[in-house]
Amino acid sequence: MPVQRRSFDSVIVGGGHNGLVAATLLSRAGRSVLVLERRDELGGAAVSARLFPGFDARVSRYSYLVSLFPSALLRSLGVSIELRARRIPTYPPVDLDPAWQALMARVGERLFGTFTEPLRSREEMRRRLGDEAAWEALFETPLAELIERTFDSDQTRGTVLTDAVIGTFAAADDPELRQNRCFLYHVVGGSWNVPVGGMGALSAALADAARHAGAELVTGSEVMAIATDGQRAEVTCADGLTYGARHVLAGVAPSVLATLLGERPTPVPGGTPEGAQLKINMLLSRLPRVPGAASEDAFNGTFHVNEGYEQLAEAYRQASVGEIPSLPPCEVYCHSLTDPTILSPELAARGVHTLTLFGLHMPARLFDKPAAKERAVAATLRSLNSVLAEPIEDLLLGFEALTPPELESELGMPGGHIFHRDLAWPFAESPEDVGRWGVETDHPNVWLCGAGARRGGGVSGIPGHNAARAVLAMR
Ligand SMILES: Cc1cc2nc3c(=O)[nH]c(=O)nc-3n(C[C@H](O)[C@H](O)[C@H](O)COP(=O)(O)OP(=O)(O)OC[C@H]3O[C@@H](n4cnc5c(N)ncnc54)[C@H](O)[C@@H]3O)c2cc1C
Repeated sequence: MPVQRRSFDSVIVGGGHNGLVAATLLSRAGRSVLVLERRDELGGAAVSARLFPGFDARVSRYSYLVSLFPSALLRSLGVSIELRARRIPTYPPVDLDPAWQALMARVGERLFGTFTEPLRSREEMRRRLGDEAAWEALFETPLAELIERTFDSDQTRGTVLTDAVIGTFAAADDPELRQNRCFLYHVVGGSWNVPVGGMGALSAALADAARHAGAELVTGSEVMAIATDGQRAEVTCADGLTYGARHVLAGVAPSVLATLLGERPTPVPGGTPEGAQLKINMLLSRLPRVPGAASEDAFNGTFHVNEGYEQLAEAYRQASVGEIPSLPPCEVYCHSLTDPTILSPELAARGVHTLTLFGLHMPARLFDKPAAKERAVAATLRSLNSVLAEPIEDLLLGFEALTPPELESELGMPGGHIFHRDLAWPFAESPEDVGRWGVETDHPNVWLCGAGARRGGGVSGIPGHNAARAVLAMR
């Protein structure tokens, strides 16, 4: 039997950015807190890495842009990180009319503030939005209808749809509305900005805040089991150490938590979580040339590649029947244009740049076939090259591609799902959840504090905040 060494008020399983937020808030409230992280570094999917040997370039390896982290929460954590706006958000430029932009702004202004408050009912959120037509279009009807009614151009329709299918394998007219929920989380926080210093700088600041508040943060410590009687819990690690806890907060995905509890994961709509993206990180000797545009403009914001509405539909169709899309839609972004601090002065002076590519409609199911990764990467580079004036391969100094199964084994994200599971509506879907925090589990002292909580997903700190509030509200 392992020896029980120490007890804490709260043990947090997983040192992703959300676990760190929860750790800070609980420690500041006087609770004793231990964070156990399986990897050798903190931050989970919000980290930077010197990926390319011999080059001092710190790349945001997984996530790279921030929109959903409430500025009030950052301030209350004492974390000061500059979130820099991109000079040109989108290329090719699309014509989003003022009425559309005003609608998106209104959705954010009226609803985002509730994400860090107890859950409201669906009806209350509907009243709060105060726009019946917008509610119907965004919350009740497949997004395809709104997009097709509002925009004529295939390019504009596709660019708008990308916000609905980032990390979410769904068609525009999916009746389960997963695309609508994904879209909502992509517009509700406002613009997508660059964390100066990279995602690693954000997580490092969050870890500092947690340590400063008194939390103990342990890396290289994989949790293997959680046992609870609803009042007290025991957390057992791979090294055989066991910790006692009044509360356990799970920064890991809900299905990982279920396994640690020795339970079967609760069935979720859409079945097992499945990520749907190919992530490619590159270091280039210089920016690629682009027909008809200055490279500094084209790559300053999100550079959309074969993401027309019809192209997205075709890629979804192909991937649904198990084929790697023949012209994979993807988007590319150059971090070092907005934030040169991630490069050494010598690399910056040479004109070297980082490029990150997020490929859509590449579900995990495609990668159980032989050489699937090689074929997916080749098709994606072909797709990228189809809109460049020169082959990207000629400029590569460093290259890394990550499939959903690789994300699963590196980060513990089930099926490589970047939000731990499909995003949920940001309101209570049953009467008993009204007034709760969306972090509760079947066990009164076990809480979700990661992306898989209601109002989770993305780099937001919101589920970490909400779990801490739920714990502190317990008598
Ligand atoms: C490729 C990619 C690109 C993305 N791009 C963006 C973006 O630009 N903007 C954005 O907002 N979001 C983006 N996301 C999503 C976002 O990064 C995640 O939703 C978010 O970081 C999740 O944070 P978290 O703290 O909840 O969980 P995670 O970051 O998943 O952290 C969970 C932690 O738990 C640890 N863990 C797992 N199992 C155990 C165990 N048994 N014991 C101990 N520790 C364990 C893991 O190692 C990990 O560190 C992206 C994600 C990916 C993968």
